[in-house]
Amino acid sequence: MTKTEEWALKYPEWNDWHWQMRNRVRNAEELSKWIPVSPEEKKEIDACLVRFRMAVTPYYLSLIDVSDPDDPVRRESIPSFRELADNTDDREDPLNETGDSPVPFITHRYPDRVLFLVTLECAEYCRHCTRRRIVGEEDHAIQGEALDRAIGYIRDHEEVRDVLISGGDPLTLSTERLEEIVRRLREIPHVDIIRIGTRVPVVLPMRIDEGLLSMLKKYQPIWINTHFNHVQELTPESEAACGRIADAGIPLGNQSVLLRGINDTPEKMKALLLRLIHARIRPYYLYQCDLTRGIGHFRTPVQTGIDIIHALQGNITGFAIPKFVIDAPGGGGKVPFSYQYMISHDEHEIVFENYQGRIFRYPEPRVPYDTEDRSDT
Ligand SMILES: *Cc1c(COP(=O)(O)O)cnc(C)c1O
Ligand code: SF4
Repeated sequence: MTKTEEWALKYPEWNDWHWQMRNRVRNAEELSKWIPVSPEEKKEIDACLVRFRMAVTPYYLSLIDVSDPDDPVRRESIPSFRELADNTDDREDPLNETGDSPVPFITHRYPDRVLFLVTLECAEYCRHCTRRRIVGEEDHAIQGEALDRAIGYIRDHEEVRDVLISGGDPLTLSTERLEEIVRRLREIPHVDIIRIGTRVPVVLPMRIDEGLLSMLKKYQPIWINTHFNHVQELTPESEAACGRIADAGIPLGNQSVLLRGINDTPEKMKALLLRLIHARIRPYYLYQCDLTRGIGHFRTPVQTGIDIIHALQGNITGFAIPKFVIDAPGGGGKVPFSYQYMISHDEHEIVFENYQGRIFRYPEPRVPYDTEDRSDT
């Protein structure tokens, strides 16, 4: 029996997402009621909590293999003293989301789409969170005048055809509160697609219930992007939650962060990606870790990401491979990086490698172009 199954039997309210939220582990003392915690670990966690909040659902906690000190689920969710290191390149807001914010809760960086932060609460606080500066202020779900203003901004900007609802985690809101936001966005004629960024399928899969899905179905086209980083997070529960989303006709994408020691080898990444497509989730982005303060210990060299994608290209299903991107520090947006397959290129031909390293040539069309229609000359 897995620990998840064991705890689900022991706690009759296990599958009630409100129970999971109420029973989130928020400090070392609470953690020790669920899994063994040494006095040193206790000290480490408490030291960390001075700066960064902790919350882990009992469900997500149940995925930890307690015999492995480097367990990926543990590293993603349990505070470590390494978060207190002050690295010279680290910043509070590395993507300058505040600078690109025309009204509170909206970041408008790209021409046709906006990021809309509807709450700062999450079901679990990721140790690698890029928005640590604000996430965890739990009384900051958007409402009233602030909501009117954010919606008003989108209504006034006809170029916005894609709204990315994020946070915090939008699915920690009640279905009623989320519906108010989605409904008001849907009423704006120029808003075409609505996307929801959420880690709830990973850390609180019981939240993906019938009420939520039948609500969302009324406002299609809706897309959901989730955030799995390691194959261990793909459990029968999380896969079933994603299956319910897919069955509701909502396409699912996944955004992972490249995390040192967690998913930074081709083997680990491959296991994750193949399991994602099995669960009907399309890998979308693999992010280079941002320069956020308190997450420097998760950073890998950029070359690691390029090498991982290169190792997978051609060797697994094409659509299982995400785009590797750096979100440009200072707010330049996401920029894709990949292995350089091109060896040379002039007006006559391009010479390049394939995934196996074999060399190929492709001739450019001859000038005047071979295919040009000259029937009237
Ligand atoms: C990532 C992001 C988006 C969405 O970008 P896509 O490449 O379309 O997924 C929009 N706005 C901001 C500020 C973002 O960081
Ligand atoms: S769920 Fe997203 S916003 Fe919340 S802590 Fe994790 S990475 Fe940050």
